[in-house]
Amino acid sequence: MMHFDILTLFPAMVETVLSESIIGRAQKSGILQVCAHNIRDYSENKHRRVDDTPYGGGRGMLMAAPPVWNCWQAVLEGAGAGERVRTIYLSPRGKTFTQEDAGRLAQYDRLILLCGHYEGIDQRAVDAVADEEISIGDYVLTGGELPACILVDSVGRLIDGVLPEAECHEKESFEKYLLEYPQYTRPEVFRGEHVPEVLLSGHHENIDKWRLAQAEEVTRLRRPDLYQLYLDKYKEK
Ligand code: SAM
Repeated sequence: MMHFDILTLFPAMVETVLSESIIGRAQKSGILQVCAHNIRDYSENKHRRVDDTPYGGGRGMLMAAPPVWNCWQAVLEGAGAGERVRTIYLSPRGKTFTQEDAGRLAQYDRLILLCGHYEGIDQRAVDAVADEEISIGDYVLTGGELPACILVDSVGRLIDGVLPEAECHEKESFEKYLLEYPQYTRPEVFRGEHVPEVLLSGHHENIDKWRLAQAEEVTRLRRPDLYQLYLDKYKEK
């Protein structure tokens, strides 16, 4: 079973999102476990305060180091012996998340995901607990909870048994750097537009060829950066 521990001030945000649909089902069937831990429960302050003003001045509040450290320690104590564990701080300063990262992180037994809020977290706590920092894109959100959900969703669906067919994610966008070919379902004609003839032919080799050509073309046009990686690594010379 793969474990995700989410360290957050707003556990309900992640519990609500991740209890639905495919990730929710995978939890119920025991393939994944997602636990949200409330950092506030680890505050040493009698008012359960978790934030304070930044040294040196500046706007907003920062999450203080001690509750983050205490929460992380408690989660680590709950980890099984010999588990491969990695702690990730979701942060706009991190490396931009890709499908390759999702595949890499799916090799761990337990991912501990630290979510910042307000103006972020005291750097000493980040340095003490995080193995790496991941950003989900070049924009700033109010907290790390949505990024953590994105990470759980994209890593979780790569775990065996989460998706119905093992090959599902082998033919999707970003596998081999290609975006996905267009897909169609019934009806055969919609507002005068017909499904491409080849898909009705039943000729699997031709269908595969058509799909590859479509995937190459859409990637070349929309993402020349990925297309170049594909040419360098996979395209038969
Ligand atoms: N002051 C910080 C800065 O300028 O880098 C931004 C803090 S942000 C308002 C609060 C928290 O949201 C961050 O600590 C981080 O956990 C999360 N966050 C915001 N944008 C994110 C992104 N693009 N990727 C991952 N986490 C993000």
